[in-house]
Amino acid sequence: MHLKIAILAGDGIGPEVTNEAVNVLTTVANARGDVFEYVPLLIGGVAITEHGTPLPPETLQQTLSCDAALLGAVGDNKFNHLPPSERPEAGLLQIRAALGGFANLRPAIAYTALADNSPLRPEITASADILFVRELLGGLYFGEPRAWDKAANRAHNTMAYTRDEVERVARIAFDLATKRRNKLTSVDKANVLETSQLWRAVVNEVARDYPSVTVEHQYVDAMAIHLMTRPRDFDVVLTENLFGDILSDESGVITGSLGMLPSATLGGKVNLYEPVHGSAPDIAGTGKANPIGAILTAAMLLRHSANMEAAARLIDDAVTEALNQGYRTTDIAHGNIAGQTTLSTTEMGALILSKLEAALETTSINDQGAAQ
Ligand code: NAD
Repeated sequence: MHLKIAILAGDGIGPEVTNEAVNVLTTVANARGDVFEYVPLLIGGVAITEHGTPLPPETLQQTLSCDAALLGAVGDNKFNHLPPSERPEAGLLQIRAALGGFANLRPAIAYTALADNSPLRPEITASADILFVRELLGGLYFGEPRAWDKAANRAHNTMAYTRDEVERVARIAFDLATKRRNKLTSVDKANVLETSQLWRAVVNEVARDYPSVTVEHQYVDAMAIHLMTRPRDFDVVLTENLFGDILSDESGVITGSLGMLPSATLGGKVNLYEPVHGSAPDIAGTGKANPIGAILTAAMLLRHSANMEAAARLIDDAVTEALNQGYRTTDIAHGNIAGQTTLSTTEMGALILSKLEAALETTSINDQGAAQ
């Protein structure tokens, strides 16, 4: 297989963590005898410095010619004087819109080894493994009309969804549920909002095509509580843009650190993969960045853009093994606990890589699908 991957490392810790993710991808490609072609492209602050714009036309054009895009993070305080539309972050919003991905996947996993990092009691989070599927291009964030009439002291936004917008993201969520534990929770506010009534009706319609999947509906306000009191009960959680933004951030509590969280955005011209965290200027260049979010993002890329489930699982397992053996970056080091070893970004990357290489010696990943 020849896979062409746009590498949009960006600013701050973006290049540091992306480098570790690329090392993991290369190891998988070598083990399979595949060729992964990397196309390094500028986005964010580094693109402003070089080309005067956060998303140079060349970056977008080249990304559109790739099979997948891997992004680090954007953001640099030295551009804070610029209006929002000219800052590094604008480049990210522009490329997300241009690629057109509408299904944002955010896993929230409670690693046993990190149980003490969550403010929730270990018996509540133990083995929680949730996949949020958030609709990304509709709802309140994009609905028109929208305005702030300062003279009238009035502002308004519009929450709007079409049947098609709900159906296409619902189908992705149901497909994913069939590959997991066959449970889907759809979150809405159908007791108050017409958009939610449409949402619920379409989800029920799509559900008929997936008889193996058990479907439940939850109101968003109740769901905010359930996620913190019984997160283990959920598998795939499907929801609209605003609710998904809030609930997936809330679920970061389950994992314990922003540096651990990967994401994928599917359904557009090119799928976009990025860790959830930003450019973290406070730790950039110190070697303290946790590369695990980026490495797990690389696993999502293999899973969703290359159909390499077996390789993706080996990466996930290598991360879990490193954590179980007490290896930590600073953000997930918990006090001065015996048996823990604190590693730098590159040390953690190299450790996970060595575990992946060891697994590859005994596990064939040449067939697409499950490991043999
Ligand atoms: P941030 O995610 O960069 O950092 C928040 C906190 O988490 C910081 O204390 C940081 O040190 C820590 N952190 C983040 N990632 C980490 C990692 N991998 N390992 C260890 N610690 C980590 O959010 P912020 O501070 O609000 O924003 C910084 C810049 O990043 C801003 O310019 C912001 O606009 C931008 N940003 C970009 C993205 C993105 O590119 N997707 C997302 C959020 C913020």
